[in-house]
Amino acid sequence: MQRYAEPMARLIEELKKLPGVGSKSAQRYAFHLLRSTDEDAAALADAVRALKASLRLCSVCNNVTDVDPCAYCANPVRNQRLVCVVEEPTSIASVERTRGYAGVYHVLHGTLSPLHGVGPEQLRIGNLLDRVERGEVDEIIVATSPTLEGEATASWLAATLRRASASRATQPSAAQPSAALRITRIATGVPAGSDIEYADEVSMARSMEGRREL
Ligand SMILES: [Zn+2]
Repeated sequence: MQRYAEPMARLIEELKKLPGVGSKSAQRYAFHLLRSTDEDAAALADAVRALKASLRLCSVCNNVTDVDPCAYCANPVRNQRLVCVVEEPTSIASVERTRGYAGVYHVLHGTLSPLHGVGPEQLRIGNLLDRVERGEVDEIIVATSPTLEGEATASWLAATLRRASASRATQPSAAQPSAALRITRIATGVPAGSDIEYADEVSMARSMEGRREL
């Protein structure tokens, strides 16, 4: 492999860490940046720095946000008692495209994947269980992808949520017994084995409407 001056080699190494970027692309990007104006290169570096400095996870739903709680959790027009659970922050866009969903979200930041060493403790679910235990949720729509990992995550989630909901029912502090938590799963309008991120809005809307009890 060709040897580059240290700053170039360093940039190529960093670029190779991006998903889908191999050695060839990384070299192409690095040389493109070398040829670009100082302003363009600085704008890119600034954007990366600002991303890490100003963005954080919403303390309620784990969505990526620059304000906490995020725009969805802070929106009084949205039904805060209807929660759609998705794998990644980017999955929210797929549900929003349907324009038919007026609830809020919860982002797991992954799916169960024993092969890749992702167990329940790696998923962000604590704040959702807290919401359920406080009786703040009427229905949870599990919108993980219809892949093996997504389905396994949905089953595990349903069992865990049911336990959290049951522990609330036995708490003496619960003012009055509230209606049982509804846990639903999106229908398979999203093609099986595919990622919901690539679902078009019509199939996504259908799969939200056709959701079934889990
Ligand atoms: Zn939020």
